Amino acid sequence: LLSVRGVAKSFGGLRVLHDVSLDVVEGGITGLIGPNGSGKSTLFDVITRYQRCDAGRVTFAGEPLDGLAPHAVARRGLIRTFQLTRVFPSLTVAENLLVFARSARARPGGGPAAGKAGGGGEGETRAVELLDVMGLLGLAHREAAGLSYGQQKLLEIAQVLMLGPRLLLLDEPMAGINPGLADEVVDRLKALRTRGMTLLLVEHDIPVLHRLCDQVVVLNAGRVMAGGAPGEVLDDPHVREAFLGE
Ligand code: ATP
Ligand code: MG
Repeated sequence: LLSVRGVAKSFGGLRVLHDVSLDVVEGGITGLIGPNGSGKSTLFDVITRYQRCDAGRVTFAGEPLDGLAPHAVARRGLIRTFQLTRVFPSLTVAENLLVFARSARARPGGGPAAGKAGGGGEGETRAVELLDVMGLLGLAHREAAGLSYGQQKLLEIAQVLMLGPRLLLLDEPMAGINPGLADEVVDRLKALRTRGMTLLLVEHDIPVLHRLCDQVVVLNAGRVMAGGAPGEVLDDPHVREAFLGE
């Protein structure tokens, strides 16, 4: 579904990505792991065209993304979250989702998730369905500001799901969440996979990667140092030595 080939990116004289290649197949969860500053968020920026790469190519659903603006990438169904969670604090949980239903409808030509003109009920139906999937239905009429950080993370994922992604990129969806709710997030992400969603996510926690991912890619100092099944990659002595402190 997603193919990254030979991507390089520098900021000024700082080389952040060197010849990065990876593939994400449809219908699974791929984990991206690497030390702080290894270029994980920058790779997301390059894939979603928030940053231009200096070399290499990104192909999504068989089509190169070169030259597209970020919103055009999103319209093709390649949707992301950012490392810092951003929800509308003074809106309710349900309203936070409906804002995204409107923007989906307002898109020229509409997307796979776009409702029919005037079909406000469709957005509401979808919002209820997604709140249910993310375990937020009971909180629908609460102000987002009153949610825990972990619940806000789930809300943010529900928001981007309103856009009808084919591939969802999540930058540290488990960061800053207490262990109890992290289990909940893992279960919710597994439920998304069951529904056919394809996910690429940045995650640091090794047990979480084992439980969640079909494939793990290791980024170290801007280079892919390993990739494959979690059991293979995470038990590889070179990987463990390089940055798991073993
Ligand atoms: P973390 O685990 O801390 O989120 P990361 O793997 O996501 O790290 P990036 O955020 O991609 O790492 O950053 C990689 C390197 O690129 C860092 O040295 C960072 O300071 C630098 N960098 C990232 N964005 C920019 C930018 N817009 N301008 C200049 N340097 C940047
Ligand atoms: Mg990052």
